[in-house]
Amino acid sequence: MPAIDTLPPLREVIATHGLQAKKQLGQNFLLDLNLTARIARAAGDLVGHDVLEVGPGPGGLTRGLLAEGARRVVAVEKDARCLPALAEIAAAYPGRLEVVSGDALEIDEGALLTGPWKVVANLPYNVGTELLVRWLTPPAWPPAWSSLTLMFQKEVAERIVARPGSKAYGRLAILAQWRADAKIALTLPPEAFTPPPKIHSAVVHLTALPEPRFPADARILSRVVAAGFNQRRKMLRASLRGVAPEIEAKLEAAGIAPTARAEEIGLEAWCRLARALA
Ligand code: SAM
Repeated sequence: MPAIDTLPPLREVIATHGLQAKKQLGQNFLLDLNLTARIARAAGDLVGHDVLEVGPGPGGLTRGLLAEGARRVVAVEKDARCLPALAEIAAAYPGRLEVVSGDALEIDEGALLTGPWKVVANLPYNVGTELLVRWLTPPAWPPAWSSLTLMFQKEVAERIVARPGSKAYGRLAILAQWRADAKIALTLPPEAFTPPPKIHSAVVHLTALPEPRFPADARILSRVVAAGFNQRRKMLRASLRGVAPEIEAKLEAAGIAPTARAEEIGLEAWCRLARALA
């Protein structure tokens, strides 16, 4: 395959800038630029889009995003050791890469990006779920982003796309699928990363729906789903007892058997229940 750009190979970048991976920053780098270009393509057409990247590290995915035609990439990196390597990429793509030195949990994304923007990231595993939940719970819908293309531990990816009746089905599946289309775009073995993590990984692609799949109040839905899955082995009439008075009647009004368990209930029925409780 031809090289995606004229910058040095990532092993050389890491050696030049002394970027030995730090475990506490969740650093497992992708060094194969054809693979990072593939992840960038999983985000759909990037031409004309601003992209937010969390944790660019030595910049493998950043280079993939720029080579695939992103209008502008805003890359937020907590590890200041990576900044000189990222500055070299910015110089090779004039005016298209802005590097923000800091913590992705603390930045004001809206001030940095022009929308609707896309998020593409090989996330540090320790903050991945927290960031996903934030992106999925903005103050208003539709959100400022149009799609999220994110690397997770495979087990977390399976929870995001899970269907009713499976062990992986729970709060994350309902939160993600209520207002977005979610699919696993590719799975990667540990050897794809340097150093290799202990687990397999998967890239999840989520596209924001223009409006929720079924009407419901976000807070009520979140509360009732949390209560149901906190005691997932119990029948709903027991696990939801504290949520509202006369819960059996409310469940029946929503067409749900009070003896059912949380993992048997599909998204539409959860939304009916949230409406019955409103
Ligand atoms: N994108 C690079 C790649 O694919 O090779 C690096 C991915 S590595 C799994 C995660 C990156 O996120 C690291 O560069 C790490 O320093 C950075 N990071 C960790 N916590 C962060 C945070 N809270 N905010 C921004 N970056 C963070």
